[in-house]
Amino acid sequence: MNILAFETSCDETAAAVVKDGVTILSNVISSQVDIHARYGGIVPEVASRQHLLAITPVAETALGEAGITLEQMDVVAATVGPGLAGSLIVGVNFAKAVSQAQDLPFIGVNHLEGHIYANWLCGVKPELPCLCLIVSGGHSDIILMEDHGSFRRLGRTRDDAAGEAFDKGARILGLPYPGGPSIQSATKGVKTSLSLPRAWLKGSDDFSFSGVKTALLHMAEEQEEKDEKWVKEAAAAFQEAIIDVLVNKTIQAALRNGVKQIMLAGGVASNDALRERFKTDSPLPVLIPPPVLCTDNAAMIASCAYYHCVSGNLRESEHDIIPGLAFAK
Ligand code: ZN
Repeated sequence: MNILAFETSCDETAAAVVKDGVTILSNVISSQVDIHARYGGIVPEVASRQHLLAITPVAETALGEAGITLEQMDVVAATVGPGLAGSLIVGVNFAKAVSQAQDLPFIGVNHLEGHIYANWLCGVKPELPCLCLIVSGGHSDIILMEDHGSFRRLGRTRDDAAGEAFDKGARILGLPYPGGPSIQSATKGVKTSLSLPRAWLKGSDDFSFSGVKTALLHMAEEQEEKDEKWVKEAAAAFQEAIIDVLVNKTIQAALRNGVKQIMLAGGVASNDALRERFKTDSPLPVLIPPPVLCTDNAAMIASCAYYHCVSGNLRESEHDIIPGLAFAK
């Protein structure tokens, strides 16, 4: 089964063709990161205009690279939410237009479920039940996946998402947007003598990252000489504090729920230090997609749509965007 999928929930315009939910035939991503960098964050109106400009060439490239025509497609899918309304609407309407023109079924996909399905594109069949940590600029969720289509959110962030905290921390330290990659490159090989607090929120699988961000701000205000060495050590302490909490709380939740393995998903899962810590600390097998499948892409949306198809869990073609779509509690 060939699925053509679109992903436009935030600032990446993406289209992909995936065969049988696991084989990527093409995975095309047009990033707007350079456009938004000058504003220090994503500007929704700018994002939706860029999606409009990029969607047709991205779709044509995805079909060309896959080497198959629209006539050979079985299903068209798109992210319906959560995400920015003006961005979602571009991908969903484009996908629906293609599905109607070709008389193909349309499947609306939850972006967060899509992130989890990046793990089905790595050449190893994941084992269920599993625990998934979704970490990105908008989300820090611990999800228990018992079967295809069966997701239970055990924990979420009570304030900033991990990626959002990285962006704000980088700004405090004078490092460029996006914060995650710039903090990662500033901390390469750095051993820090600094330490920042961790919010463990005992008895809950929730996260909180606003305290560590405020602690970093106070540390920066008290430091008179902010030379390059200090900035690198402060960035390393900040990254360590966030990763420590993400790794420990995810492993504890996985052991408590008796799952077979842990899966990572979302843009922050491409952070090298986070990947390394999971590999060294987890007593359970950990699946981590390659960085290009951790950040937003349409291949993961196609894979998720495939499992909707095989389980018969199809959404109606008139399904509209759902910017506030979430996992069931
Ligand atoms: Zn995402």
